[in-house]
Amino acid sequence: MITIILLGPPGAGKGTQAKDLAKEFQFLHISTGDLLRENVKRNSPLGLKAKEFMEHGELVPDKLVDEMLLEKLNSPQVNNGFVLDGYPRNVSQAKFLDNFLKQNNSKSFILYLDTSEDTIIERLSGRRICSNCQAIYHLKNMPPKNPLYCDICGGRLYQRSDDREETIKNRLLVYIKETAPLLEYYKDRLVRINANDDKDIVFGNMLKVIKNDYSEIPRGN
Ligand code: AMP
Repeated sequence: MITIILLGPPGAGKGTQAKDLAKEFQFLHISTGDLLRENVKRNSPLGLKAKEFMEHGELVPDKLVDEMLLEKLNSPQVNNGFVLDGYPRNVSQAKFLDNFLKQNNSKSFILYLDTSEDTIIERLSGRRICSNCQAIYHLKNMPPKNPLYCDICGGRLYQRSDDREETIKNRLLVYIKETAPLLEYYKDRLVRINANDDKDIVFGNMLKVIKNDYSEIPRGN
């Protein structure tokens, strides 16, 4: 089993790139942010507990996220591997994940999407999400044909409430305090990718790195 872990600040393009990588290798894409938003949407017990944290751009407590992730990691949908986006978010989650990967004898591949502050703000403020299929758009860089509806499924597009300016600032502070220390934790294992480039260039660079080091990854058709 292979694990691809995408690290980087909010707005680095983790969601977009993770979807494309998962498609390329036919791996399962696991976004803890998407899973949490689904729980909030259907008012599940987890969603009710997570909502407040998410609205303020704070991390949801580790125990809740770790349990939710573990359920997904153990699901039969994990075939040859998975692409993790939005997890780990702190050192304690990284240790939890390492433990799981060791037990399951998984090779891991850690890509850090290095992104400037200007790019982050620009990407987050223009981001729109499909309320139905979770496809990601950007009003300028990846515009939908109609700014209100999804090109793929016709679902209504929305701006995430935590992509508004007040919350973006706090998410960046939380990133610096909680998640940036992961760069030190993973320093011997991570590969840095310049994520300010256009999305196709970033994807191409990630593929190059993966294919060089992990040529034995089974490819999807
Ligand atoms: P994302 O979609 O990855 O930007 O995540 C949106 C929000 O979900 C974050 O701001 C956190 O409140 C919460 N969240 C997502 N992943 C995690 C995680 N691994 N640990 C704690 N909270 C998370």
